[in-house]
Amino acid sequence: MEPTKTDIVVIGAGPGGYAAAFYAADLGKKVILVEADKKLGGVCLNRGCIPSKALLYATHTLSMAKESEHRGITFQTPNVDLTKLRAWKDGVITKLSGGVAQLAKMRGVEVWAGRGYFEDSNTLRVETEEGQKFINFEQAIVAVGSKAALPKAWDLGNPRVMTSREALEIEEIPENLLVIGGGYIGMELGTVYATLGSKIVLVEALDGILLGADPDLARPIVNYAKKHFKEVRLKTKVGKMSTVGKQIKVEMEVEGQKKEELYDRVLVAVGRVPNCENIGLENTKVTRDERGFIKINEKQQTDDPAIYAIGDVAGGVMLAHKASREARVAVEVIMGESSTFTDVVIPAVIFTDPELAWCGLTEAEAKQKGINIEVAKFPWAASGRALTFDRPDGLTKLLIDPETERILGVGIVGSGAGELIAEGVLAVETGITAKDLALSVHPHPTLSETLMEAAEVFYGHPTHTFVKKKTPHPAP
Ligand code: FAD
Repeated sequence: MEPTKTDIVVIGAGPGGYAAAFYAADLGKKVILVEADKKLGGVCLNRGCIPSKALLYATHTLSMAKESEHRGITFQTPNVDLTKLRAWKDGVITKLSGGVAQLAKMRGVEVWAGRGYFEDSNTLRVETEEGQKFINFEQAIVAVGSKAALPKAWDLGNPRVMTSREALEIEEIPENLLVIGGGYIGMELGTVYATLGSKIVLVEALDGILLGADPDLARPIVNYAKKHFKEVRLKTKVGKMSTVGKQIKVEMEVEGQKKEELYDRVLVAVGRVPNCENIGLENTKVTRDERGFIKINEKQQTDDPAIYAIGDVAGGVMLAHKASREARVAVEVIMGESSTFTDVVIPAVIFTDPELAWCGLTEAEAKQKGINIEVAKFPWAASGRALTFDRPDGLTKLLIDPETERILGVGIVGSGAGELIAEGVLAVETGITAKDLALSVHPHPTLSETLMEAAEVFYGHPTHTFVKKKTPHPAP
């Protein structure tokens, strides 16, 4: 069969792949988007960001109801209908995935359903339901993403041992759930199940949870876990697992002491591995690093001149918005522009309760790199808005260059921190100073004021908190 000719083929329709396909089509390229899954949208839309946030929202209403008693509002014990909850969550996914398909159609992006496999540096074979088809392309953008790591010793073929993919299906509310991994996926899904009533034991091999974040920002989340989970065990290594009746027997070593316990279900959240197997990369010049991620330069170019890689499969921060940004860089480079993925501010958000978000430099990073910074913090206990919705457990913090007064990093922990961090991204990305932030009038009463007041803390005269300023700074 004659191969179909195209300018660009994009393999994988996640937030990296569909963003690349749409942008390239908008810029006038003929694009074919190849996706192995029945639904477009990738992990993020179907098995990641969207379903997890939908479940976190839905279950948050349970904790809101429980916590409103001291405000004089009580509810009867809520009933959770898992079938309806699942149907609502799946409805959100279907709507969004259908939207992506519609947007592809409107742009003239051809969507091919099937697995892509490189025959060589300019040919992709696609295994479709109608049989094999071939694409001859000028450039390919590989956006095949990643999957949850499941060490062999734990892969019992028993659905009670879950990765995030199965956990998001909430088949049941297990009475006892072991969560392995104190990163953001373990913490977010642990929060969902804890709110639904599971007794969570969270184990982490390292000596802290959410270690990428500064400890002062992670503290409220650690406190949440200590209060709402049955136990958080650090420095714990999980060994063998086996099926015992309807439970899973787990062997572990907690700070050197061996333990054996039974759980109704286990959630493995120990990281993600790139989807590089069986896509024919060996038939191209593409190379991979020691962890299996595709090697790229700052232009998203692989070692094969015709092939680009973006998103999770290219390593680095594994987040949807990083994939989408890399998509833009790859397409612009193909178009002959001088774009690079250099010094791009990628915010991180952990949608726990409270939420945790940061962008730019962290305090730990500044220390490690020897960067001189001044830290200005505004505690939410001093925010009128935070008190009106009974969540004073937040903190807004700015990392400022004392010489130039530029904002180098922003960290926020508190309810809705994920929405608030966008202002921080704008501040760091555009290189504004603390003075700019202090002089920008923020609406009252809103949580956004905590960013303005943190900038005022830097100058030593915030309105709603008091600081003894050590270094004099000119007033804004
Ligand atoms: P993916 O989204 O993984 O998409 C890759 C696509 O390629 C898939 O659809 C796959 O079917 C397809 N594919 C694979 N191989 C082939 C092939 N050979 N041929 C054709 N198609 C193929 N990120 C955030 O930014 N915010 C969040 O809140 C967030 N929450 C998350 C929660 C969970 C539980 C998980 C697991 C992840 C979460 N992430 C979040 C991470 C985010 O989902 C990923 O970073 C993002 O999906 C990566 O996008 P991508 O385009 O690189 O690949």
